[in-house]
Amino acid sequence: MSEDFKQLVNIAFFKFVKQLNDTPAKRRKYKERAISGSLKCIVCRSQEEFVGTEGLATHVFTSQEIGLRSRHLGFHKALCALMGWKSAEKPNVTWSPEKLSDVENLTLKEDLILWPPVVIIHNSTIGNKSPDQQVIISIEEFETKLREMGFGDKTKVYRGKPANQSVLVVEFAGRLSGLQEAERLHKVYAGNDHGRAELLRINQNGETVSAPVNNMENILYGYLGIAEDLDKLDFDAKRRRVVKSRKAIKDIAEASIKTQ
Ligand SMILES: [Zn+2]
Repeated sequence: MSEDFKQLVNIAFFKFVKQLNDTPAKRRKYKERAISGSLKCIVCRSQEEFVGTEGLATHVFTSQEIGLRSRHLGFHKALCALMGWKSAEKPNVTWSPEKLSDVENLTLKEDLILWPPVVIIHNSTIGNKSPDQQVIISIEEFETKLREMGFGDKTKVYRGKPANQSVLVVEFAGRLSGLQEAERLHKVYAGNDHGRAELLRINQNGETVSAPVNNMENILYGYLGIAEDLDKLDFDAKRRRVVKSRKAIKDIAEASIKTQ
């Protein structure tokens, strides 16, 4: 594969990762039909129906249709990333789904970040059934908190969805320094056991946050936004965002430092 062609495959890959993660319903459609059910190809838009995501991923990998090759291969990679499968790297070989290990899967998912970078902040009290146990945190209060923590100069804070009190989004500049700041904030939450994994655990266990809830540290959970978090943003914020590889951003930055 030439470098130019690889580049085209990558562009298509990031575009399709964004498209597949646009809504939970889209993700479900492919996940629930892994090996059965019928799916059509969104690249060549033929009427042909494929058996499950597996059949579709095979079609997009093997299709030789001229002019659609890079988009087909990009869609193949995006489907594999969604399903946690190894994607075929070399054209003209056979492909059958093989599961990524948990570590590989997590590494891949965490590499596919939203850009410009964002940190997603969850207010864990909003899930409480009784309203008197819900603690509303305003954008202004959280901005003050961010400044106290040493962030906030070049950030923008908004609600993930206007009517939803449970998600705040901290947006950073779309350059390496912005990513580094976002990662620093991500690490603050992870270091306090208030990251993505801990939030997932309390949600799964249906735990509620215990007192004192007047302390923002106890209430809030935060993590760097990845492609899977797209649906936590409203229409406009979603539209303004693309998916990028965190590793590629760092590699490019390092390479440019070396050549200086
Ligand atoms: Zn196709």
